[in-house]
Amino acid sequence: MHDFTPSMTSSRIEQVTIRLPASEAAQLQAQRSKIAKTLQINEQSLTDWKLVKRSIDARQRQVMVQMVFLVSLGASLPKTTPSAPDFPILKPSAPSILIIGCGPAGLFAAHECLRNGLRPILLERGKDVSARRFDLAPIFKHGRILEDSNYAFGEGGAGTFSDGKLYTRATKRGPVAKVYQTLFEHGAPEEILVDAHPHIGSNLLPNVVRNMRQSIQQAGGEVHFETKVVDLLLKNQTIQGVVCSNGMSFESRHLILATGHSARDIYRLLNDKQIRQEAKPFAMGVRLEHPQPLVDRHQYHLKGDQPRPDYLPAASYRLATKIKNRGVHSFCMCPGGFIVPAATENHQVVVNGMSLSRRDSPFANSGMVVTIEPEDMFKDSHSLSILAGMHLQESLEMAAKKHGGDGQKAPAQRVTDFLKAKISTNLPSTSYRPGVERADLAELLPDEITWRLKRGLLGFEKQFRGYLTEEALMVGFETRTSSPLRIPRDPESLQHPDVKGLYPCGEGAGFAGGIVSAALDGMKCAQAVTLQVGLPIRNRDAEP
Ligand SMILES: Cc1cc2nc3c(=O)[nH]c(=O)nc-3n(C[C@H](O)[C@H](O)[C@H](O)COP(=O)(O)OP(=O)(O)OC[C@H]3O[C@@H](n4cnc5c(N)ncnc54)[C@H](O)[C@@H]3O)c2cc1C
Repeated sequence: MHDFTPSMTSSRIEQVTIRLPASEAAQLQAQRSKIAKTLQINEQSLTDWKLVKRSIDARQRQVMVQMVFLVSLGASLPKTTPSAPDFPILKPSAPSILIIGCGPAGLFAAHECLRNGLRPILLERGKDVSARRFDLAPIFKHGRILEDSNYAFGEGGAGTFSDGKLYTRATKRGPVAKVYQTLFEHGAPEEILVDAHPHIGSNLLPNVVRNMRQSIQQAGGEVHFETKVVDLLLKNQTIQGVVCSNGMSFESRHLILATGHSARDIYRLLNDKQIRQEAKPFAMGVRLEHPQPLVDRHQYHLKGDQPRPDYLPAASYRLATKIKNRGVHSFCMCPGGFIVPAATENHQVVVNGMSLSRRDSPFANSGMVVTIEPEDMFKDSHSLSILAGMHLQESLEMAAKKHGGDGQKAPAQRVTDFLKAKISTNLPSTSYRPGVERADLAELLPDEITWRLKRGLLGFEKQFRGYLTEEALMVGFETRTSSPLRIPRDPESLQHPDVKGLYPCGEGAGFAGGIVSAALDGMKCAQAVTLQVGLPIRNRDAEP
C-alpha cells in the first residue's frame, strides 16, 4: 500500500473504474474504500473523487453499478458548473440562415450557426413551450387536437414532452458529448453527463428548450413562433426564401429544413413542386403497456412480490428479432411512463410514450413495431406515389380514430387476446388518459404486420418470461417511429442534389431518429452552411 501525502501528490489525478453492489453505489464511504483499494492507496490520501461514467449491470442476481471516477490525490477537483454558451458577437454583416422547425435539429443548428458567426432565423409553426403546454389540455379534456400545437408541433419539437431519452447509436464521442454539454448548460441535470443511458424527462425538458431558445435570441438570432412555412421561393432551382401562412415571407439563399416526420404538408409541398424525395424503411405497430413492477421483477431478478429497492431506477428493456427478413422490435421504451396521444390532426389517433424525470408512474410502455421496406409498398403496383408510406401511416391512424370511438380514445386489446384473435372482454387499467376502447387490432393492422408481430411476441416471451401476460395491453397505433421518406442531399455539401441552398435536416428528412441524432444532424447542416458561405468552423474537434 502506498501512502501518498498531499505534498507528494498535489497535482496527481487518476482515473479509476470500480464496481459496487447497487445498494452501496451511492454511499460515499463505500466509494472511498473501493477506490482506495483499487488504487492500492491509503483512504486518507484520497482527497476528492468525481463520477464521470455510471452504468447498471443487472445481468446477475446481485445488481451491480459500474462507475468511472476521476480521483485526486492532493488537491480538490474542479466542479462541473453550467456556463453560458460562448457565442462570438454577431457582425451586422452576418449572413442570415433560415431554419424551419424548432425541434432538436433546428435548435442545435441555430446554436451551431451562432458559434460560427451566422445569424439563424428560426421559423416554427407551433407556439413557445409555455403556451404549448396549455394546448395539450384540450386533448385530454375534449379529445381535440390543436393542429399546429400538440405533442409533435411547437417549441422543442416532438421531443419536448417525451421521456427525453438521450440514447444514440452515434459513435463519435466528441460531438455526442457536445450535445449533452449544451443540454446541461441550459438546465438539464448533471447526471446526463455521466449516465450510460441518460434521460431528462418531460417535466425538465421544456425549461431546457426555453433556455436554448433564449440563448439564440440573446446572441442575435431570431425565433418566430406561429409561423408555418407553406411555400418555398425558388429561382433557377436555387432557394430564395419562404412564404408563411401568417402572410410573412423571409429571404435567404440558405434554408435548413428541419420540420420533423409529422409535417406531412411539407412532404406534399415538395411533391407538388417536384422536388425529389425517396421512399425509405420505417416501422409501425402498437404501444405495449405492462405494470412497471412486472418489468422490474424480471430485469432485477426480484422474487415474488418483492418491490424494487429505492436505489434502483425503474427498469427498462429492449427486445428485437427478425421475422422473415423484417425487424420486429421494441421502440422508445418508457419505464415508469405514460402513453400519450401524439396525433397532429383531428381525424387521426396516434400513440407514443413519455415519462417524467423520476420515472415513477406504475406503468412501463414501449412501442412494439415491425419494419416496412419500400418494396413492401411498391410490390403490387409500380404506379404508387412516392408518398405511399405516408398514406399507409395515415390509413392506420384513421382506422384507430374510427375504432377508438370519441376524440382521442384509442383501440386496445390484451396481448393474450391479440394472440388468440379475440376481442378482450375487458381491459386492464392504462396510463393513456384519453381512454381506450376494445377492438381486434389484427383486423385493423396490415396482415404483414400482424403475423410478424405475433411471431415476434411469442419469441420475446422466451427471452422475457411473463412478457405475454393478461396484464399487458396493446394500444393502437404507433405509426410515427421514423420518416417514411428521405429528402436526399449531397453527401459533401448536404444540399439537395437538385435545389441549391436547401439543406434537408433531422428526422423528417430521414437523417436522424431521436433527440441526440437530430441534434447532431442539425449541427452538421449548420457546419455545411458555414463552409458554403466561406466562414471557418469553430471548435472543429467536436464536429458531428
Ligand atoms: C411523445 C414522444 C416521445 C419521444 N421520446 C423520445 C425519447 O425519449 N428520446 C428520443 O431520442 N426521441 C424521442 N422521440 C422522438 C424525438 O422527439 C424526435 O426524434 C426528434 O424530436 C426529431 O427532431 P427533429 O428536430 O428532426 O424534428 P421534430 O422534433 O419533429 O421538430 C420539427 C419541428 O418543425 C416544426 N414544423 C413542422 N412543419 C413546419 C412548417 N411547415 N413550418 C414551420 N415549422 C414547422 C414542428 O412544429 C416541430 O417543432 C419522441 C417523440 C415523441 C412524439
